[in-house]
Amino acid sequence: MSEATPRVAIVTGAARGIGAATAQRLAADGYAVAVLDLDEANTKETVQAIEGAGGTALGVGADVSDAEQVQAAVDRVAAELGPPVVLINNAGVTRDNMLFKMTEVDWDVVMNVHLRGAFLMARACQKYMVDAKFGRIVNLSSVSALGNRGQANYSTAKAGLQGFTKTLAIELGKFGVTVNAIAPGFIQTEMTKATAERMGIAFEDFIKGAASQIPVARVGQPEDIAHLVSFFVSEGAGFVSGQVVYAAGGPRA
Ligand code: NAP
Repeated sequence: MSEATPRVAIVTGAARGIGAATAQRLAADGYAVAVLDLDEANTKETVQAIEGAGGTALGVGADVSDAEQVQAAVDRVAAELGPPVVLINNAGVTRDNMLFKMTEVDWDVVMNVHLRGAFLMARACQKYMVDAKFGRIVNLSSVSALGNRGQANYSTAKAGLQGFTKTLAIELGKFGVTVNAIAPGFIQTEMTKATAERMGIAFEDFIKGAASQIPVARVGQPEDIAHLVSFFVSEGAGFVSGQVVYAAGGPRA
């Protein structure tokens, strides 16, 4: 990678958590990074952290489940940073409920952000990757894809992303584009904090309880996932495609 023309990466949901750590890691790896999140104002902290460390970043506001906003965001990244050839579909939400209490809105919101969002972002970015004969897409799945009580919507979406990953790998491989998925276990972020709050458990106790079930005896940090993203998008990972790696401190969290 030449320093004069860094490759451009888009990380969705990068205002905080796994997305923020991933954006910072890719910037440290030499990419110019579009820090995309629902509200552009919320991307400021991640953008400043990247710029403070000498990297290049652009904050972009868009709802990944809205086709027009996605197209406008990707057009803006291409115009202001350059053609996006790396895409990390990380934006996510939970609307947990047992099946009998799950509303249609709970179902639709989760499907729209994870599945429709990943589809719209990948569709908008693929032409830049095909033109460059190089591309990397990483989709954030979850151990919940294997089934998790109270998450019929989320586990379905995260399992769906694995099928999406494998199909894109088959379609885009001949253009030098790899597509992989990461399925994290328990990662310490606002998302798991909100789950603890919903369950009425102090976050520290929730973390302790989770760590006691994890073979490496700790919960994950956003940087653990960013490290794996860094591998998948690297030049040398060009023969690894259509894979799902469970990053959960053991075979399954
Ligand atoms: P997080 O802290 O809740 O961050 C998610 C980010 O996505 C937030 O900044 C959120 O913005 C943004 N976002 C939500 N809906 C969006 C939309 N429609 N368009 C654009 N951005 C949107 O979550 P995280 O824990 O870092 O999780 C990141 C990804 O990893 C998610 O896909 C999640 O499902 C997956 N994951 C997490 C864990 C875990 O244990 N934390 C485990 C497995 C998988 P707002 O704040 O404005 O809503």
